[in-house]
Amino acid sequence: MISPLNDIKSFSDHLNATSKHDPCEICGDITGRDRQKHNQENFTLCAGTPTAKKGDRVGPYICVNDNAKGHTTHIWILDKGFSQWEDDRKTQYLLEKQRRALVAEQERQTKIQA
Ligand SMILES: [Zn+2]
Repeated sequence: MISPLNDIKSFSDHLNATSKHDPCEICGDITGRDRQKHNQENFTLCAGTPTAKKGDRVGPYICVNDNAKGHTTHIWILDKGFSQWEDDRKTQYLLEKQRRALVAEQERQTKIQA
């Protein structure tokens, strides 16, 4: 039987240890104690928040496990709502880029006609 702790361990092999250049997003640890993954969710294993509970928030992050089994390391990910906000922002950016390209193209055609 695979325990959740083993899952965390095998997963942490692919995570970056915190450092001065890459502090923990949750508690600011720089000693290498915490682990984080710089992907879309910014998966973070943080031992600096031993009293955190599932659903707790730190900035845009949400805690997704509790310490019912005495675990002091918590998993934090970027809240989905926040990711959605980011997606919206990307869409806005792309739309703006398209609009600018269109304007530039119109200006170019105007110059040709003139
Ligand atoms: Zn931390």
